[in-house]
Amino acid sequence: MERTGGRGVRRAFLALAVAVATLTAACSGEIEGELRSEGEIAGLPITHFESGLRTSAPKPRLNVENVSSEEDDRLAVAAIADVSAFWKEQFPRHFGEQFQPVSRLLSYDSTTDDINVCGATTADVAMNAFYCPPEDLVAWDRGTLLPLLRQRFGPMAVVTVLGHEFGHAVQYRLGAKAGISEQTSTIVKEQQADCFTGAYFRWIAEGHSQYFEVSTSEGLNQVMASLFFIRDSPGQSHAAAGAHGTAFDRTYAFQLGFETDAAKCAAIDQADVDSRITERPFDPDDAGMGDISVNDQTLGMLQQSLDESFAGAGVPGPKIVNQGASCPNGVSTPPASYCQDSNTVSIDMAALAELGQPIDREAELTGRESGGGLGDFAAFAEVVSRYVQGIQVGLNVPVDNANAGLRTACLVGAWTAAIDHDGALLRPSPGDLDEAIAELLLPRSLIAADVNGHPAVNGFARIEALRQGYLNGSGACSAEYP
Ligand SMILES: [Zn+2]
Repeated sequence: MERTGGRGVRRAFLALAVAVATLTAACSGEIEGELRSEGEIAGLPITHFESGLRTSAPKPRLNVENVSSEEDDRLAVAAIADVSAFWKEQFPRHFGEQFQPVSRLLSYDSTTDDINVCGATTADVAMNAFYCPPEDLVAWDRGTLLPLLRQRFGPMAVVTVLGHEFGHAVQYRLGAKAGISEQTSTIVKEQQADCFTGAYFRWIAEGHSQYFEVSTSEGLNQVMASLFFIRDSPGQSHAAAGAHGTAFDRTYAFQLGFETDAAKCAAIDQADVDSRITERPFDPDDAGMGDISVNDQTLGMLQQSLDESFAGAGVPGPKIVNQGASCPNGVSTPPASYCQDSNTVSIDMAALAELGQPIDREAELTGRESGGGLGDFAAFAEVVSRYVQGIQVGLNVPVDNANAGLRTACLVGAWTAAIDHDGALLRPSPGDLDEAIAELLLPRSLIAADVNGHPAVNGFARIEALRQGYLNGSGACSAEYP
């Protein structure tokens, strides 16, 4: 977050309040049309099983240079064979040509190998996976990167990364058909590759893959967590040479591919990216580089910001009180609880302050235990998620039905966008949306939880709900999550 000290509330936020008010009508009336619900993920049933290589998977017949017999190479080679099969089928369907297999595949161990490749050595590129256009080569580090991804997130994280690199090979084959030229920015290419990965995962989730199976709950969570892990650091410009996007941007592209198809991915261009990308540098006046502490003073500012924002709802907003997150006559959902009796958000200030510590990127990369800080925005957004319970209760909107958790995440997203303007008392800073995503990936997420602290089960759906609200405003929250 960033404190600007400014005053004044942009009118757009009134739209949120008004749209929240219309929730009542939407919920009591008959609902028609296609609705998102807890019961499905982009039209597929929510499934729970162990995702990964099928026991019945065929033995891939591929020529891979320097390949080993290690588990990570088995997984990687199967992923390449699988994504090749996907494109062999889908490429002609969407683009009217046969798919040409990738010319070279290379496995290397960044801890021991030093192989000349693509104008560098594998020791230089180290822990990485990449596509090299001049050599039409996909390479991966089986020594550090793949085991780290697999051990930390699960096998589908490896499939995600290789699906992405393969996506670059697809994009170079498409060339002008995907708008790719020498001038195409990195971020456009990266967004396309993430989107192609999403289209490929849809195909796996629908059961077409001979090699892999992925559940739409824990399996897709592995994908979300790995996209979060490989996000750019906050404050980078999306115009930078190596920009890959924030976790918010990357999950957007993946979900677009998962929900549409490869043709939509190829249509991602600079204008599209410029219109929605969230990656941007820090404001030069932002002394805290996106971090403010969680304390009495900043929570007072949050209270004021929320009260002003929701004034249009015409119901009394809850008061934030430091009472240990307990509700004497209701359910406590620490570190912040909405207490209906008193119309308060009861918080545990110390716990929120700890949650609000910046993410320890070093610990995240090395897998070392850290204090568990997810950033100031994660802490503030948890409080906001409880505040919107009070507004909805005031408007007679059910805060414990099946969609309540996702609607909450959506409203938090809508609020985030609504305070992102000059003159706002508190304003989101680069990295904040990713801090919300980090929170949404916790099993106990409060941002995507109903009034009783029960979170929506699915990480994919939680992230999508946040984005719905952020991009489309609170009207989308009532429409999509009645
Ligand atoms: Zn890439």
